[in-house]
Amino acid sequence: MKPPAFTYHRPASVAEAIRTLADVGAEGKVLAGGQSLVPMLNMRLTAPRHLVDINGLTELSYVDSENDAVRVGALTRHAQLARDAEAGRRVPVLTEAMGYVAHPAIRNRGTVVGSLVHADPAAELPAVLLLCDGEVELASATGTRRVGAADFFIGPLESALRSGELAVAARFPVPPPGTGAAFIEVSRRAGDYALCGLGLTVTLDADLRVARATAAYLSVGPTPVRVELTPAVVGQRHDGADWAGAGALAVAAVDPDDDIHATSAYRRHLVEVLTGRAGRLAARRARQRWEES
Ligand SMILES: Cc1cc2nc3c(=O)[nH]c(=O)nc-3n(C[C@H](O)[C@H](O)[C@H](O)COP(=O)(O)OP(=O)(O)OC[C@H]3O[C@@H](n4cnc5c(N)ncnc54)[C@H](O)[C@@H]3O)c2cc1C
Repeated sequence: MKPPAFTYHRPASVAEAIRTLADVGAEGKVLAGGQSLVPMLNMRLTAPRHLVDINGLTELSYVDSENDAVRVGALTRHAQLARDAEAGRRVPVLTEAMGYVAHPAIRNRGTVVGSLVHADPAAELPAVLLLCDGEVELASATGTRRVGAADFFIGPLESALRSGELAVAARFPVPPPGTGAAFIEVSRRAGDYALCGLGLTVTLDADLRVARATAAYLSVGPTPVRVELTPAVVGQRHDGADWAGAGALAVAAVDPDDDIHATSAYRRHLVEVLTGRAGRLAARRARQRWEES
């Protein structure tokens, strides 16, 4: 299959990219790693008249470990973030999730921010951004704005990005002290999109009791779904918390569809089981964090 005809733009600066996006408006799309856009063009699932290729904008290729967040520029490839030890130390769940994103060849080319804008509900990084309460930074000819993860993912393959906007970076906040995290998913083959997955964080207080537990699920609805698990486990010991109760809370909060890969019932089962596994693992890691501090 070949893509429909389009005009190719290769801006030399962020300012030029934004000007070009303003000129072409709703007829334009940004080309980043092309790992989702190019197959969609070839299958004619999308037909923009203009492609604005940002691969020359090397100033957007960075991972900044700030005091309170890991900030990732729009041209940062998945593999680049996965290799960044400082980012992994600050937001470990981000690095753990990266290992589940597709295959090495795709991770070498696909971008972190592209994955967020693409807003596939089966993708790992949107769920991680939601779990961390992160945000996406957007720039256009009329200014810049930041959109929090809770407002960014609107529907399947639909984000809050407006026409004429370039997503320039994403921020993944550092969790509070005493927090452990885990990312787990189930897929038919390694590298496939998950049938169900989740990132989960547990924060323990100084008595090693659960102060807060939160999870964000993928592949269980039109967007990633964040569930506050705290009511099921708050005040309980780190090694004896009611993760079955947390799993039941999560099952009540999701509404997965049947599809050719799995039934809704199977996905609900995975939500329950994986919540327990991730909860126990995250609580163990939270305890280690206290011991190391
Ligand atoms: C075989 C295969 C398996 C895969 N498996 C997985 C998987 O298991 N998990 C997973 O998460 N992903 C998976 N992917 C997708 C991959 O992670 C992509 O890299 C990612 O979805 C999009 O990043 P990209 O840089 O390639 O974006 P592109 O394909 O270039 O763009 C995707 C969309 O985002 C828009 N966009 C991109 N960057 C910007 C920007 N800075 N500003 C505004 N708009 C922008 C584009 O216009 C387009 O609409 C898979 C892909 C393939 C081909």
